[in-house]
Amino acid sequence: MENERQIFRYFTNEDSKREVFQEPFTQGDFTFATDGRRIIRVSNSCLNNKYAQTDKINANAVFVHSGDSERNVTFSELHEHFKNFTYFVKCDECDEYGLVSWWYKDFEKEDECPVCNGSTRVENKSSVKLADKTFRLSVLCSIYRAMDLLEIQSVRMEYDKGCPARAVRFVFSDDVDAMVLPQQTKNNDDD
Ligand SMILES: [Zn+2]
Repeated sequence: MENERQIFRYFTNEDSKREVFQEPFTQGDFTFATDGRRIIRVSNSCLNNKYAQTDKINANAVFVHSGDSERNVTFSELHEHFKNFTYFVKCDECDEYGLVSWWYKDFEKEDECPVCNGSTRVENKSSVKLADKTFRLSVLCSIYRAMDLLEIQSVRMEYDKGCPARAVRFVFSDDVDAMVLPQQTKNNDDD
């Protein structure tokens, strides 16, 4: 598969404390990449490279459930939500200063902002609703970017209606699919 390393990188988190979330890995006939919120699975027969084997998690087990409902999600539909998307946005807590004021009795001190840890940026918290599921754009962006690189115009979304927290499956082809965790919200109305 062309661009396979780049596609896997959309699903991993190299800063994760867990090794299994940092790099793609192979189990049985498939290779996976995940950061714990999203996971992609690709048939080894499509891949040009070899990846490390691991049995630290049972990645295939995540894909057993395919849901009772489905609908197609098009690239152009996602593009509307992602055309102006940036993964990081400015930290409002410190207003991009990186420092905040702390007080103790009569003492005042400036110290690292506890929200952005001094980096001045935080993950974009915007979300989008697909069917009755709400997704963080920062999580769903992996699906959008993978579709873009693979030049796929439409994926099949398989989900359980009325189960807001259950992972949703996105089917790219017979050889590529992904599971994404929706955001838990208090009100999940049907479309
Ligand atoms: Zn901050």
